[in-house]
Amino acid sequence: MKITMIGAGYVGLVTGVGLAEFGNEVICADTDSDRIAKLKDGIPPIYEPGLDRLLKSNVEEGRLDFTTDVASAVERADVVFVAVGTPQSSDGSADLSCVMSTARTIGEVLKRTADKDKVVVIKSTVPVGTTRTFARILASYVPGGWAHVASNPEFLREGTAVEDFMRPDRIVVGTESMAARDLLLRLYRPFGGISKFFIMDPESSELVKYASNSILAVRISFMNELSNFALSVGADINKVREGMGADSRIGSSYLYPGPGYGGSCLPKDVSALVHMASTAGHRLGVVQAAQDANEYQRKLLGKVVAGCLGAVSGKRITVWGLAFKAETDDVRDSPSSSFVEDMLSRGAAVTVHDPQAMGQFRKAFGDRVSYADDMYGAIRGADALVLCTEWRQYRNPDVEEIRRASPNIMVFDGRNVWDQVDFDAHGVKFYSICRGRRKKARLGPGPGPGLHPVQDQLQPVGVLDAPDDVVSSRRPSPLQNGSMDEARPGLSLLAK
Ligand code: NAD
Repeated sequence: MKITMIGAGYVGLVTGVGLAEFGNEVICADTDSDRIAKLKDGIPPIYEPGLDRLLKSNVEEGRLDFTTDVASAVERADVVFVAVGTPQSSDGSADLSCVMSTARTIGEVLKRTADKDKVVVIKSTVPVGTTRTFARILASYVPGGWAHVASNPEFLREGTAVEDFMRPDRIVVGTESMAARDLLLRLYRPFGGISKFFIMDPESSELVKYASNSILAVRISFMNELSNFALSVGADINKVREGMGADSRIGSSYLYPGPGYGGSCLPKDVSALVHMASTAGHRLGVVQAAQDANEYQRKLLGKVVAGCLGAVSGKRITVWGLAFKAETDDVRDSPSSSFVEDMLSRGAAVTVHDPQAMGQFRKAFGDRVSYADDMYGAIRGADALVLCTEWRQYRNPDVEEIRRASPNIMVFDGRNVWDQVDFDAHGVKFYSICRGRRKKARLGPGPGPGLHPVQDQLQPVGVLDAPDDVVSSRRPSPLQNGSMDEARPGLSLLAK
């Protein structure tokens, strides 16, 4: 099949490469000439695991090409995918200017060529009703007034985008055109068979995408709020999460507390859904609450660090991790972006490190921060080290090297992935935004004579697995400025 992908970003490029891999002839058309020039040289403009290999092989085998000439690319295609950006507008709604500009470009081609058979597929995340409007616009260009348009939202996750696209959980198609439906069934058949297809009307299809992202946001915000509460009452959120997630009705994904959700999709899609509903006279209270909780959580890391450091002005802060999640270079609306902005506004000097996202971060922050090539070199002389992204190379840090680089450094785990015990062992001050600062483990007395040592029948109890005493507001920790725990929300320092 001859396919044209309009927009060669995270979704368009991965989709284009994936469709080429299954034997289709694909052209990715994008108005960004730098991006297209890179792609023509075989250089992926984004980091996505596995993408470079597939890009290279499909170009070499002549199934994949790139152009800035969008109209010509549309003209030659059997099916045109629209995968341009739909960023958040200032009022919270989705900005459809790029999508509508493609409608005009495609319409002009349909008019010029009198083509009645071309199928147009909206892959961008668009508000409910957009696909129908898009079809109406195209129809106005075509003699006979009909265009084959379908909604086909994308569910890939950055970081695992290639794998997600190649092995989708589901393929949602929303259309009233039989031709569009049949073509998409044929096109996607190699991606997992008929059982993965959900065919519906365009409006439902569009809403599936917003509803899916919003329920994920609700889960994350629920856990973030719960972790703040758990800390204040002496519960360990990791244990709570494991206990909850073992229930098959609940499951364990998207239950990880952290610095608040970010990235190019969740924040804007949640906001767009709230906006859509309110325009239609509905209040989606649960989704709105998730958004409010996230706004609070996104500011928490900065408050905690500032609370522990005392005056931030003049302090040197190192950030490990800039991408909004591991395995991507995307820094759009990342927790590190807002944290760094916060620290800079308080007068700190910030040094950053990330294995893949420094180039993207530099586009946004320029020389307002320092960029370090080496993760340990980044912390030389720093007052604080803050983990913002859970890249694998940060997961098991050499704490002695951290201490050597900066003996009085305070370490903040914004992702809830480090064990305090590792830092205590080297005398490095440590604080997790989700678990606070925990006292050394104490096990209660063992079983009396004749009793079964139940503990021994369970998994080995390590120091961190033991029922630690959590340092809560009732038991201040002995760290700098009196208590790190005072930097917790709801406690004295932040109560105002
Ligand atoms: P992106 O910003 O990475 O890519 C969009 C591309 O479209 C850019 O390269 C831009 O130059 C190009 N473009 C804009 N207007 C154009 C036009 N008129 N003609 C040709 N090219 C044009 O965006 P993305 O992250 O790939 O997201 C695309 C859409 O997919 C959005 O609606 C997004 O919400 C949705 N989505 C994204 C993800 C994700 O993880 N990034 C996942 C699912 C869905």
